[in-house]
Amino acid sequence: MRVIFWAVVVWAVAMLGVAWFAPRPSDVRLTSEITQLTASPGPARVSAAPAWGQPPPEACTDAPVFEAAAARNAADLDGLAWTPYGPPETGWRTYAPRIAVEIASNCPFDSPGFANALAGWQRAHGRSPTGVMDPDTFNIMKVRWHLQRPFVVLSRNGGCPPAPPIEALTPLRPEEAYGDRPMQARADALAAFRRMVADARAADPAIARDRQALRIFSAYRSPVENDVTCLLNGGCDNVGRAPCSAHRTGLAFDIVVGAAPGGRVDSTDNANRLAQSQTPAYRWLVRNAGRYGFVNYVYEPWHWEWSPPEQRGATRA
Ligand SMILES: [Zn+2]
Repeated sequence: MRVIFWAVVVWAVAMLGVAWFAPRPSDVRLTSEITQLTASPGPARVSAAPAWGQPPPEACTDAPVFEAAAARNAADLDGLAWTPYGPPETGWRTYAPRIAVEIASNCPFDSPGFANALAGWQRAHGRSPTGVMDPDTFNIMKVRWHLQRPFVVLSRNGGCPPAPPIEALTPLRPEEAYGDRPMQARADALAAFRRMVADARAADPAIARDRQALRIFSAYRSPVENDVTCLLNGGCDNVGRAPCSAHRTGLAFDIVVGAAPGGRVDSTDNANRLAQSQTPAYRWLVRNAGRYGFVNYVYEPWHWEWSPPEQRGATRA
């Protein structure tokens, strides 16, 4: 009993820490979401294994019992009024590629097969297996995705992870950078990034043709730089901007995955993020980046953190 008691205490502390130090607009409401999850039997059934990799083949249309759910998903894909990360949004298409990986489905998002796979995921996570993509289901996925980012998890102890010494950083090559600004990253993370980009270009000619795709527009940012930005621009209240950015570790990369016409590569505008989520570069990353140790902050299609399992203990120091 004592073991179970302390396991529950450790879980609760971890969850509160994640909620407190998580760096984006969503994370204010994440506190209550995590509280709700920890108050229910749901988390105990959540597998720790990330859902990376190729989904198995499945029939996308041969699931008549999920036709109504598919019709609802078809309407909601571009019509659901909700606030998944705080600001109002319409539709869940922006998150559909990541959701498809989560539920291991390669069916169209509005198909009975997709609804069937979603229902299986809901059942496995203690939810009613409706097959309909709803805000409650998304919130559980969101917390799972958040917990796959060790920077957020490690920050739970009340501190901001230290920045590496400058001599431990490696400069980006000019052809890796988006723009002229010199940038650095930790050598091991950069090596993994280079392997990933080479494989992405080899796998998809559309990515190889796009000379800007998968370039880096922000990597290591010093704590001082972060502090100055906070001082000049404000908003560093863990709502608008993080006072402790993952970029200080040298393990975070902002990667060009396209933009809406006239949009910036780092714009959180809903239409821009929607456009980014449909590009070949993002589609490839969301399915494959985990194999190279990269995890996405799903609200920002461009923000990826290097955190392979063998690295997580080292980052803790
Ligand atoms: Zn970033």
